[in-house]
Parts: sequence; structure tokens; C-alpha cells
Amino acid sequence: MPAITVENPLELPQVVKPATSEHPRRLKSITTAPGGLEGEGFPVRRAFAGIDLADLDPFIHLDQMGEIDYGPGEPKGTPWHPHRGFETVTYMMEGTFLHQDSIGGGGTIQNGATQWMTAGAGILHIERPPDALIDSGGLFHGIQLWVNLPAKLKMTTPRYQDIEATSVSLLTNENGDAIIRVIAGALGDAAGPGVTHTPITIVHASLLPGGTLSLPWKPEYNALTYVLAGQGTVGLDRQPIGEGQMAVHVDGDFIVLSANERQDSRTHALEVLILGGAPIREPVAAYGPFVMNTKVELQQAFDDYQAGRLGQIPANHI
Ligand code: MN
Repeated sequence: MPAITVENPLELPQVVKPATSEHPRRLKSITTAPGGLEGEGFPVRRAFAGIDLADLDPFIHLDQMGEIDYGPGEPKGTPWHPHRGFETVTYMMEGTFLHQDSIGGGGTIQNGATQWMTAGAGILHIERPPDALIDSGGLFHGIQLWVNLPAKLKMTTPRYQDIEATSVSLLTNENGDAIIRVIAGALGDAAGPGVTHTPITIVHASLLPGGTLSLPWKPEYNALTYVLAGQGTVGLDRQPIGEGQMAVHVDGDFIVLSANERQDSRTHALEVLILGGAPIREPVAAYGPFVMNTKVELQQAFDDYQAGRLGQIPANHI
């Protein structure tokens, strides 16, 4: 799982839990993500399945895409489709997605890059592997996160941000056995490059076998840890967690994670995505590609899409 990494983590700045942090987050639940298919049929894990929306707020949806090793001709993407009322964050650790949208945004997402698309009032977009990758097959592994927008920003102007892997903030822990990538928001004194409408933090951390991490976490943020690969524990009382599982942490100002001494030979490390944000605490009416506050607004989104008011597929489309 390359994403972005360094030879010697000890050269990185350290993130340490401040001495004033006194309350480790308590584990509320661990759930196992069921598998599914997305777009034209690529395999995903639905990481938020079975978790109360109140614990996820301000997040709506999280898919782990892959990890899958495609044969020739097998890689798949999505057709053109609309969104309104939220933001999508796509982070690619293996493989490549091409993106194009109806506001002129577009690019290649690969090798630890992130694409941040604010759908706001409305956008059409497509995500697909490049032809060369479809022909060759190969590894594909990423995540797509949906971040809600508050009522006052649901109809904001759409926006596209291309975040290169090299712009991600890299940190380590006290022992130098973790690589912590801050993709968006703040983590202690560090900040990631993603510009967020809703205050959130997104971190991808790799813990070497036996490594332990105490991450400062804003008490007002929710806190979710999803295991992308490997085996470890959460909390000071070391509750077991493994690949495809999601922990909800509540009440506290730091998060404790540990990697088991034994990891499988494929990944070597515990790979986790750690997410949190300021809850929006508004009603959520979500259906298909739209996330609004009321059913009337959802119907309006469908009507606007049918009438072509969410955008047009560009003439030079991929
Ligand atoms: Mn989409």
C-alpha cells in the first residue's frame, strides 16, 4: 500500500498527545463493513453500514474501493452521474482513476493523491480507470468519503480540488514506528492541504508491527477509525480490530491505536483511516446521489437533474 511514504519516519515531525490530554476516547462500537458493488461493478466495502448517522455526522458515506488485483480488461469505474448537497473525497492508494466533471474540473488521481469535489448546488461527474489500466489490469485501492454540507451551504457553487500526494502533511509518533498522513484539517499543530467547508480532519496512518499511536483529537469532533488493512487494537484496553472494521470513539481528547506484533505478509503494517469533524446536527434526507435536509429538497434535486439543471456532460468528455 504505497500511498506516500518515507524511508525513515524518525526524520518526520512528531505528533504527540498534549500533556493536557487526559481522557482517551472510549470505544462505542466496532462494526464490520459488508461488501457491495459500485458504479459499473467495482467491489467496495460499505464502511458505515450499521452505524447511527448521529455518530457519523458530518460524514454520510464511506466506501473502501478494493483492494483488488484486476486481471486484464477487468478494471471498472462509474458512468456520468449527478450529485447535490455534499462533498466527495476520493483518495487513491493503488491504481488510477480519471475524473471529469461538468464544471471543468478533471484530472488523474493516483499514488496517494486526493480529489475533493464539492457538489454543492449540483454537478455531473465520471470516474473511470484509464484505458491502459483497463487493458493491463492491476492493483486498485482507494476510498471515497461523502462529507455533508450544512443547509446554508448545500446550494453553494461547485468546486474541485486536486490534492497531490506530495502536499499531504507527514508526521510520525514518539517511537518513529508510524507514518501519519494528514490529508485534510488539523492534527495537533499540523494541517493537511484539503480545504473543507465543514471542519473535519482526515488522516491515513500506517503503524508498523507493535506500534502504538496516541493522536490528539478535538473533543468536539466525532471520531471514526476504519482499518484498511492489517490487525490491531483500539483504546487503552486494547479491543481487537482488523481489516474492514470500523470503530466509533466517543468522549475524549485523544485516540489510542496499536498494531499487532504479527501482521500478514501482504501489508506488513496496520493501515487505518481516521476521520472526524464537527457534527452538523441537521435533518438528513439522502437518496441515491443527493444529500439534502428534506424530502421536498430531494424531489427538487431529481427534478432539477431531469431538467438538466445540475450541469451538462462536456463536449470533450472522456
Ligand atoms: Mn460520484
